[in-house]
Amino acid sequence: MIITIVDTIYLIAIILFIVGLKRLSSADTARNGNLIAASAMGLAIITTLVYPMEGYTNNYAWIGGGLLLGSLVGYLAAKKVAMTAMPEMVSLFNGLGGAATMLIAIVEFYNYPSGTALLNGQMITTDFALFVGCISFTGSLIAYGKLQGFLRDSLVLPYPKVVNMVLLVAIIAVSVHMLTQPSLNFNLVMILLVLSLTYGITFVTPIGGGDMPVVISLLNSFTGLGAALAGLIYSNQVMLVGGILVGASGTILTVLMCEAMNRSLLNVIIGGFGGGGIAAGGGREEVVKEASIADLAIELKYSQKVYIVPGYGLAVAQAQHICSELDALLEAEGVTVKYAIHPVAGRMPGHMNVLLAEANVPYPKLIDLEDANKDFPTTDVVLVIGANDVVNPAAKEDPSSPIYGMPILDVEMAKSIVILKRSMSTGYAGIQNQLFFGDRSRMLFGDAKSSLQKLVDEIGNV
Ligand code: NDP
Repeated sequence: MIITIVDTIYLIAIILFIVGLKRLSSADTARNGNLIAASAMGLAIITTLVYPMEGYTNNYAWIGGGLLLGSLVGYLAAKKVAMTAMPEMVSLFNGLGGAATMLIAIVEFYNYPSGTALLNGQMITTDFALFVGCISFTGSLIAYGKLQGFLRDSLVLPYPKVVNMVLLVAIIAVSVHMLTQPSLNFNLVMILLVLSLTYGITFVTPIGGGDMPVVISLLNSFTGLGAALAGLIYSNQVMLVGGILVGASGTILTVLMCEAMNRSLLNVIIGGFGGGGIAAGGGREEVVKEASIADLAIELKYSQKVYIVPGYGLAVAQAQHICSELDALLEAEGVTVKYAIHPVAGRMPGHMNVLLAEANVPYPKLIDLEDANKDFPTTDVVLVIGANDVVNPAAKEDPSSPIYGMPILDVEMAKSIVILKRSMSTGYAGIQNQLFFGDRSRMLFGDAKSSLQKLVDEIGNV
């Protein structure tokens, strides 16, 4: 009877996971979708605790302690994290998911009755779970280190492709040998553990910092796969379906991000992108024109159509609210204001959407890359606020550029372009931007928030 009730509640949790995931696909319903999915997870955890399991009745203190500690750390971390540091946190938490799968696999091997043959579905699944969990764990830690700047892209392992291939062959060989023995040799599990943990490190280390979002998304799908495998090991449907949902959505996100950068996944994994710090204009001496607040205020006020291109710097400056104020001010003057949203602007998918939603910018004002590019030739002023790579024409014009092929916002087609940033520093990909030197381009140097505040004050005075 209790098993039927538990299975029914699992089914409800699974349905809620799917509903929650569906609601995450729109900014209006995302907050509610997150709550639904989190409640489903809570329901699944509580239900699992009442599931009758022989021989495991005295673990509630351990489980309760773990739940309390984990919830506390998760709550504090999520409350404290800056929006710009979200990819780092996702990466770290994802690594912990991988570590959990790894530990489950070790425990399953450890508890496997001695003298029992290993070549069966259960043990092959456990072996694979160990491998996937280890890659997610160490790979995510390396991704975290790269995003935080602890690990530089200049840290290059010798012959990475050869090392990875050798490790992969060794992992397969040890797995096959271990599973075909008459009984489990736990030393082989430990060797497999070390090899797989090392593979996670050598797999991610050669990948450039600029590609870390894609890698995190890929590792996230690995963690989902690991959870699904753990669901198979324990015959737990909710864990299986939850893992499949994470694995599938991680894979879809990975593919979409690769498409947004116009690169294949293989190119991301073996190519190096980001952090290189390539010098401006190939060493040529070039000068930029600077915009003045007074002139720009008049220009904006008398424009018909203005586009705002938000980027990572808008998030750093926390300038979304003043940006929305400028928008309202210009709209009141009869100017049409829209936002051009590049799919990889900022530091996480949907970063700009979330940021602008926080400042109550109406969703229909957010225009995607293709439509914005069609609109730029008839635009009077484009304000590029803290964006750099996503408006870099090198992606179209310079085959030697690491971002070559990535679709970008063609802001240079507009009548006037003003770039708000603090200096001539590069963006995430570490390359200079010829847009800044264009005939119709002007720079407005300074922190985006204070520049926008000055602009709003000036427009009020015009
Ligand atoms: P970039 O990182 O290319 O450029 C951001 C610019 O913002 C910098 O040039 C910086 O210049 C400026 N900036 C920083 N702080 C401020 C501030 N307080 N006020 C004004 N300007 C500021 O950002 P983009 O959004 O254009 O491009 C995103 C890049 O990040 C792409 O290369 C993408 O591949 C990568 N990426 C994307 C992720 C995603 O999923 N969206 C995740 C991780 C990376 P200065 O220092 O001179 O002010």
